[in-house]
Amino acid sequence: MSQTTLSPDSLTIALLGEAVLRQHAGAVRLPDPQTEQLAQAMRQKMDELGGVGIAAPQVHHSLALMIIASRPNARYPDAPQMDPVVMANPSIEAQSTNLEMGWEGCLSVPGIRGQVARPQWVEVSFDDLAGQRHRRRLEGFVARIFCHEFDHLCGLTFLDRVEDNRQLMATEVWLREGQR
Ligand SMILES: [Zn+2]
Repeated sequence: MSQTTLSPDSLTIALLGEAVLRQHAGAVRLPDPQTEQLAQAMRQKMDELGGVGIAAPQVHHSLALMIIASRPNARYPDAPQMDPVVMANPSIEAQSTNLEMGWEGCLSVPGIRGQVARPQWVEVSFDDLAGQRHRRRLEGFVARIFCHEFDHLCGLTFLDRVEDNRQLMATEVWLREGQR
């Protein structure tokens, strides 16, 4: 990570094809003022771009750090409201065997939505920025966001989970015509 001060303006979004999106993110050591700064800048970037989640590799930092922040906005009109949660070094402890199909988009894959099967619920653990470990059960769309961001830490994008190209839509059409 660079030693310079991080501001949301200094963060650029890594786009599909950039190597950082294909790397396994490294563990974060906490507490750490640089990581706190990065998390804050990531949150502002996510808010600015209408994301409901963001992972550090998406802003060119190959670190196991992500934010999930479901709320209805122009990009996700039907998203449930939750308080944003910063998660460092997350892991999946348990997950439902039942999978649910749902639409996803990604700040790193502009212009495309895809239908992806994800667990209905996941039980996850993660560190907060103070380095305290937490365990939490997430359901539905929030579980989906977690899995999507967690994939980024493993070098995967949602496109790797789409089983059939016919389950892709242009975001413009998806927003105009709604989910099929
Ligand atoms: Zn993404």
